[in-house]
Amino acid sequence: MSTVLQVDRMADFEIVIIGAGVVGLAVAARLSEKHPGLLVLEKNEKYGMETSSRNSEVIHAGIYYTPGSLKATLCVEGREELYALCRKHTIGHKPLTKLVTATNDREMKILEATLENGKKNGVPLEMLTKEQTLRLEPNINTVGAIFSPTTGIVSAHELMDCYHHIAVSNGATVQAHCEVVGIEKGPAGYTLTVSEGGQRSTFTAEKVINSAGLYADKVASFTGIDIDKAGYRMVFAKGSYFSVASSKAKLVSRLVYPVPNKETLGVHVVLDIGGRLRMGPDTDYLDVLNTDYSVAESKRRVFAESVRRILPAIADEDLTPDMSGIRPKLQRKGEPEKDWVIVHEKERGLEGFINLIGMESPALTASAAIARYVEKILP
Ligand SMILES: Cc1cc2nc3c(=O)[nH]c(=O)nc-3n(C[C@H](O)[C@H](O)[C@H](O)COP(=O)(O)OP(=O)(O)OC[C@H]3O[C@@H](n4cnc5c(N)ncnc54)[C@H](O)[C@@H]3O)c2cc1C
Repeated sequence: MSTVLQVDRMADFEIVIIGAGVVGLAVAARLSEKHPGLLVLEKNEKYGMETSSRNSEVIHAGIYYTPGSLKATLCVEGREELYALCRKHTIGHKPLTKLVTATNDREMKILEATLENGKKNGVPLEMLTKEQTLRLEPNINTVGAIFSPTTGIVSAHELMDCYHHIAVSNGATVQAHCEVVGIEKGPAGYTLTVSEGGQRSTFTAEKVINSAGLYADKVASFTGIDIDKAGYRMVFAKGSYFSVASSKAKLVSRLVYPVPNKETLGVHVVLDIGGRLRMGPDTDYLDVLNTDYSVAESKRRVFAESVRRILPAIADEDLTPDMSGIRPKLQRKGEPEKDWVIVHEKERGLEGFINLIGMESPALTASAAIARYVEKILP
């Protein structure tokens, strides 16, 4: 490897982080304050080329997640930390606010339960009547809505640039084109085998943080963990987006979501930092992980129909296939929400090894709080 090895400890490195998505980079930014020599390994040519750059870029308030779960706690904490970070480092963001709209009486009941859940998570929320909602967003279909004043959007790229800059300024190294293909526990910590352009090499690390996103279960299995027994085997759900013709981009001025169902937040109206309007993401469970990010034109009709339920002025021809992302999930189709796994694996005899598995939404929002949590459990 091109990186300078540290010679004053038994292992070559004190800390190695596997994966430079928003989570790995946030952890690197945080830990590099006290551990400047840490190393981040990334298999792609640059950081942030997978799920972290293929999402809605929403700063979630924390409404939906099970009270007391890591998702709920770290989302609520992380959201405020993220706004503060954005202000401090002038990262592109907009505190747009959000409506979750019900379109009939049955959905109003779901809305009330959603409001209660959000309140248990400590999220500031307000229930609006139909008239109050239409005053905010005259073009949507509604019989009443939840108003979330703390929801916003952020530029995921600028956020990752910021974490990367902090980590590197503190002395960390982010090594691209470097895929971890094996991990073995030994007396000096962990021996990592990496592949760089087809060339294999090994080095040692005292502590390893597995933040490999879509491949986190595979990386965990390198250590000998039986990922089926541990409940770490992930499933993958692709989420596609359609962009909306610019002539219709001003139909809404904030994020608008339908009522959630058991598995997803539903296809929603997303605005990006540039003011572009997109609809998405849907939820397509994949039989096996494949990173074909193309969006099928054939989905247009179904997309338009579900979008028209909340924004009736959208015609089929207003929609153009846009981007997609893949959710790394621990819950199978139809199962209730499962929490993230963020755990120090000492109970499995893997002292100094931290797994982050199933890091689906809202891990972008929560990234700074996740990093703080990892620092807390790091031995
Ligand atoms: C459709 C969609 C919409 C979403 N919307 C939102 C949202 O609005 N708000 C929100 O908060 N969250 C959202 N999310 C979730 C959010 O995008 C993810 O939770 C977050 O990006 C996960 O970051 P990560 O760093 O864990 O994973 P990743 O970004 O996948 O990064 C993992 C990295 O590890 C690298 N890697 C993997 N294996 C290896 C290896 N063996 N060796 C070296 N490197 C390796 C990968 O190349 C990758 O760069 C959304 C997700 C999706 C799919």
